[in-house]
Amino acid sequence: MKRLLVLLGVLLVFSLADRCIGQSSDPAVNVQGTLAAPHLVRTIATLGGSPKQCAFAVDPLIQELRSMPYPADWSFLLVCTDAEWETILRMADIRNTDTAFTVLSKRTTILRAKMFIHPLERGYKNTLWHELGHIRCNCVSEDRASKYAYDNK
Ligand SMILES: [Zn+2]
Repeated sequence: MKRLLVLLGVLLVFSLADRCIGQSSDPAVNVQGTLAAPHLVRTIATLGGSPKQCAFAVDPLIQELRSMPYPADWSFLLVCTDAEWETILRMADIRNTDTAFTVLSKRTTILRAKMFIHPLERGYKNTLWHELGHIRCNCVSEDRASKYAYDNK
């Protein structure tokens, strides 16, 4: 777990400094405004590709988040390639997911970009609701997160 947190810290600092794009429910807020207030808006960072290269996942994610009650200051790390995804899973010592995991203490959800173009598990919408379930219960229980997804999506 400690390795995971160090890894995520490094990744997020790197990503936020270099390749961060902002997202807000208010379309009038531009990227400069978003970056100036990083704790007030959800942020999406990409790994393994620029936001443009990863647009196949960034665009549907932004679209989906418009109608989902993720906390306003939540962060997302989109992992754009399967090679990077495998590396992150290995470094974080995570084995039980093909699509996403959430680090509650870092207020960050890590998402495999591939799920936005290939049906994985129960589809990316279900995955996003499942991860939100972890946030809402503030717990790692898969049953509770899955029930939240089932009840709310
Ligand atoms: Zn889960």
